Amino acid sequence: MNNCIFCRIAAGEIPADKIYEDENAFVIRDINPQAPVHLLAIPKKHYPAVHDIPLSEMSTVMGGLTSALCKALAITGLDKNGYRLVANSGGTAGQTVPHLHIHALGGRDLTWPPG
Ligand code: AMP
Ligand code: ZN
Repeated sequence: MNNCIFCRIAAGEIPADKIYEDENAFVIRDINPQAPVHLLAIPKKHYPAVHDIPLSEMSTVMGGLTSALCKALAITGLDKNGYRLVANSGGTAGQTVPHLHIHALGGRDLTWPPG
């Protein structure tokens, strides 16, 4: 999608601090970090949210996305120290970029429940 920020990063049209990339997905550092380490795992194909993925593609898309995420967790050391995964979906959740992504937050104590 031409006007989607994450599609444009995937296409190399907008620069990003990329930690990991493969054929299915990539992981970047969030431009407005909410924790010392704040990553975004993003599938290369555009889906607004997880419920928009056709069931026939679900395991490929989510498997590819979580595999890339795990590579980045290991690269940044979050896998050793703890982290939180978040996927905001839709308006009440505060999703601001309507291209599926998983936030990984870590590097500090995280409170619960989230806001
Ligand atoms: P959400 O509000 O859950 O849709 O998350 C979107 C996230 O994308 C926010 O945390 C933004 O700070 C982040 N973001 C927006 N534009 C960029 C960008 N160009 N590079 C990196 N992160 C971005
Ligand atoms: Zn997109």
